[in-house]
Amino acid sequence: MSDVVLRLSGIEKVYNRGAPGEVHVLRGADLRVNRGEVVALVAPSGAGKSTLLHIAGLLDTPDAGEVEIAGEAMQGRSDRKRTAMRRSEVGFVYQFHHLLPEFTAQENITLPQLANGIGRKSADLRALELLDSVGIKERANHRPGALSGGEQQRVAFCRAMANTPKLLLADEPTGNLDPETSDRVFGALMRLVRETGLSALIATHNLELAAQMDRCIRLDGGYLRED
Ligand code: ADP
Repeated sequence: MSDVVLRLSGIEKVYNRGAPGEVHVLRGADLRVNRGEVVALVAPSGAGKSTLLHIAGLLDTPDAGEVEIAGEAMQGRSDRKRTAMRRSEVGFVYQFHHLLPEFTAQENITLPQLANGIGRKSADLRALELLDSVGIKERANHRPGALSGGEQQRVAFCRAMANTPKLLLADEPTGNLDPETSDRVFGALMRLVRETGLSALIATHNLELAAQMDRCIRLDGGYLRED
């Protein structure tokens, strides 16, 4: 496997190109995340963190530049290939949990595995193991509405890890929680990431959380700079 899990080269993104409301969000962003590395992406609101994460996670395409995941260039790949890569190699965590409300915590973690071709029994088992590793196995049969904000985010981490991705992308994963819960939930995420040797790019504007990561990259004026 390649030692570079995510490589972004010369990424450009413009919204509403040519229109009066044109927004040039990324102006040639370069970034590398190595195997086992946890990288903080720090920038103020509106700077383009979500845009960059969506491009890195193959949820959006850049206007120019290249995205490489686990050594595979994504440029010009079919939608089918991009979807398959996204499903198997990338885990995504949002600021708001986005769990499916009508399914239990365990089912929310089982479903992406079934979509990836895993059998029901092993998918259920893995879901339980993941919930156990973030300390909420006893909540397996609860629906998201019956969980606290911190518990919902823990389930969202487990869902992102369900298909043992190579890369975790997280967009302000604890930004919606009070400071104390945020610290504990972030601790649980970091333990899970470190235990599995996963590579991660985590957007935050909390500098204390950023300091716990291996490297800190700032997004400023459409470019990425390392601290
Ligand atoms: P962040 O995650 O750092 O808050 P975003 O990536 O969400 O920043 O947004 C960066 C800029 O791009 C903002 O000015 C935002 O208003 C603009 N933007 C984001 N998505 C769109 C879109 N779909 N259409 C037009 N402008 C957008």
